[in-house]
Amino acid sequence: MRLEGKVAIISGGARGMGAAEARIFAREGAKVLIGDLLEAEGTQVEAEINETGGEALFVRLDVTDEQSWQDAVAAAVQRFGKVDILVNNAAILRVQGLEDTTEQIWDEVMDVNAKGTFLGTKSVIAAMRDAGGGSIINISSGAGITGSKRNTAYHASKGAVRIFTKAAAIQYAGENIRVNSVHPGPVQTDMLASSMSVEGGRRPDEIPLGRYGRPEEVANGVLYLASDESSFVTGSELVIDGGRTAE
Ligand code: NAD
Repeated sequence: MRLEGKVAIISGGARGMGAAEARIFAREGAKVLIGDLLEAEGTQVEAEINETGGEALFVRLDVTDEQSWQDAVAAAVQRFGKVDILVNNAAILRVQGLEDTTEQIWDEVMDVNAKGTFLGTKSVIAAMRDAGGGSIINISSGAGITGSKRNTAYHASKGAVRIFTKAAAIQYAGENIRVNSVHPGPVQTDMLASSMSVEGGRRPDEIPLGRYGRPEEVANGVLYLASDESSFVTGSELVIDGGRTAE
């Protein structure tokens, strides 16, 4: 098992790619804390993992709130003894272009996607130091590498996550804490459905591989970065997008 003996925290783990990561991590031997605002969905993923031989704990987490992060890290340490892995996966999407982006939309998106990633990383460092190192995976996006005519605040937030990852990687490399970003293309989740409900979303035939990704296809990349197989990888960007950003 590729994560045997590891403890992981996954933000936004109640559905979509975060839930896929929680299931795959548990299957590979990790004990998983799932943090999300969605309590019904989160406890369902928790139950499913626990009933199929894994170990999971759901806690209500608001990634924009530092105290909420500190409580989540404390819960992981109390229940599972340590923290080795953090996946900063929680995010929101707003599809407005630049002039339709209100200050409120900008702040909401930057708060969850950029500040949430910063607060998660900050909150987990001490526990990872105690564990002798760790792996932090920040879920950015193809939208953190290229632009488009819409999603202005989302692009900005995902670009922030991308370069924040490198800053943190350099700062903590000496303590054996690795920090990498993952850049999914369009993947079949509720977020993609909300994006496609508004004109201008990318159709499957516009992706070189000719289809949307599945949550598991991103989760497998996150698994690699979480595991010791990636022990010499830090500050890097793993693109999982069916070839979209290669065009
Ligand atoms: P999703 O909307 O299905 O899941 C996101 C989860 O984050 C939800 O469970 C939601 O409740 C949670 N969340 C939102 N705000 C939160 C908060 N303040 N505190 C705690 N949890 C919160 O989306 P997804 O498609 O599974 O996205 C997962 C990640 O992948 C996100 O970072 C997203 O930006 C990124 N991504 C998605 C796609 C895509 O096409 N689906 C493409 C590129 C990147």
